[in-house]
Amino acid sequence: MKISNTCPKCLGNQIAVIEGGTFKGNVYNTISLTFNVIYLTRYVCTQCGYCENYIDSPSDLETIKRKFLRNDFPDDYV
Ligand SMILES: [Zn+2]
Repeated sequence: MKISNTCPKCLGNQIAVIEGGTFKGNVYNTISLTFNVIYLTRYVCTQCGYCENYIDSPSDLETIKRKFLRNDFPDDYV
């Protein structure tokens, strides 16, 4: 949806982009961490209402990776 500009549900191509952040009135579209807040950008299909959220900042993605990516699954788990 972000890249194709097409809704995966209804194939509509009118996608609204709503950036996150309190300064733009979208206070709920965030991930709160200890020392900072990560803002998510919403992509909304204006035809069927389907929404996707993306973290657009590469440095925020690195933060998410460091904090939440799990590497503790054993390889030999059956
Ligand atoms: Zn749609």
